[in-house]
Amino acid sequence: MSQWYIGDPCYAIKGERWDEFCKILFTHPEYHNKLDTLGDGEGIEMQWKYSSHLNEELEEVFAEATLYIYDSPFGDGVWNIHGHKLGVDAGLLSVLPIEVCDSTDGGAVVESKFRPVFATSEQFPHVQLDIAGDIQQDTSGHLECSECGEWVLETSVIWSNHQGAVGDCCYEDEEGDEDDE
Ligand SMILES: [Zn+2]
Repeated sequence: MSQWYIGDPCYAIKGERWDEFCKILFTHPEYHNKLDTLGDGEGIEMQWKYSSHLNEELEEVFAEATLYIYDSPFGDGVWNIHGHKLGVDAGLLSVLPIEVCDSTDGGAVVESKFRPVFATSEQFPHVQLDIAGDIQQDTSGHLECSECGEWVLETSVIWSNHQGAVGDCCYEDEEGDEDDE
């Protein structure tokens, strides 16, 4: 089993290397200025050198790891997924090998043989996370339409005595089309 950090990379990457991280990200060939296009929601891979251990001369030995960087739809906030609350402060989400992390306090650490995979989108579901085949999504602010099973915005849900919580998708006026006059 490997350990992975999930969350905003700004909490995990050493502060003094954050500028270097951003420079590599912003000059990445797949990076677009509009963050919601980062890998079309599938993220981008970025190579990162990190200090792995000291050699016999007590010099730092560097190794290279692949980081998986995603946009956080609509920027900063908190995503609630797989039982973890992931705060976002740099507009990003990431999956990082634990070895490259200076701290894991701002995100979560998960164990998985295969790397966890996010999918992000400005359409619902905004953030989806696959951990070893278990795919979950942040459903905050949404309810499942009792008629069709679609996830609909909590604020647009209509509560009906007969139908339960239904979205605009399926709501039928219970008064029927009786003559109002
Ligand atoms: Zn519906």
